[in-house]
Amino acid sequence: MDIPLILVNGSRPGPRVVLTGGIHGGEFVGTDAAARLGGLLEPEDVSGQVVICPVANPPAVYDGRLGKSPLDGVNINRVFPGDPDGGPTERLAAWLFEHVISGADAYADLHSGGIDETLLDFVGYRLTSDEELDGKTRAMAHAVGYERVLFGRNAQGGNSHAAAARQSIPAILIETGQLGDRDPDRTRTLLDGLYRLLHHLGVIEAPQHVAPVTVQPREWVWTGHVTSRPPACGTRTWSPATR
Ligand SMILES: [Zn+2]
Repeated sequence: MDIPLILVNGSRPGPRVVLTGGIHGGEFVGTDAAARLGGLLEPEDVSGQVVICPVANPPAVYDGRLGKSPLDGVNINRVFPGDPDGGPTERLAAWLFEHVISGADAYADLHSGGIDETLLDFVGYRLTSDEELDGKTRAMAHAVGYERVLFGRNAQGGNSHAAAARQSIPAILIETGQLGDRDPDRTRTLLDGLYRLLHHLGVIEAPQHVAPVTVQPREWVWTGHVTSRPPACGTRTWSPATR
């Protein structure tokens, strides 16, 4: 498969920052903002490198438009760092992890509420046993400027930012928008957050034309999830005995 990559090679030394969008299909804001950012950044204004992958999972983005890949029904954000000898989605995760994410000095993965998903904007990150790393990651999460910051108490699992954290890469998840929306205002919200993040990381000067942050970040602990019952189909009513 062809995976689009944008490299903005800065005119001065600095960190390598990696951004991925389109890990899931049906989440358009991250892909839109990532592609626009690639067109807006000028190398002479950049210290370091910004590596942007706006569509990291092309089958899910172009064919399925869902969180799972139409190739094999696998959610790629549950299988990082991937398996080069596994199925198609595990192999894609392994390629992305080895060639795009590894070697980053900072990593942000861009998501939204998908077509069938109601979601509030938030920034997520994982705690590790490394306090210095956790401090860097928390500062990145706050720099985005969103009100809600959720942290998981460990870095287990197959999310790309969790797998990156296990490799000592400061890594965050940024969720913007919901229900598969493609509202330019939501893209602007995320772009502003990415400019603040790049400024925080020392990649760009204080950005102009970025909305001032009017909220205090508030931290929440990721504790668990619940799944709602499926809706009744036609005239049938759902009951545990019939399933
Ligand atoms: Zn997602």
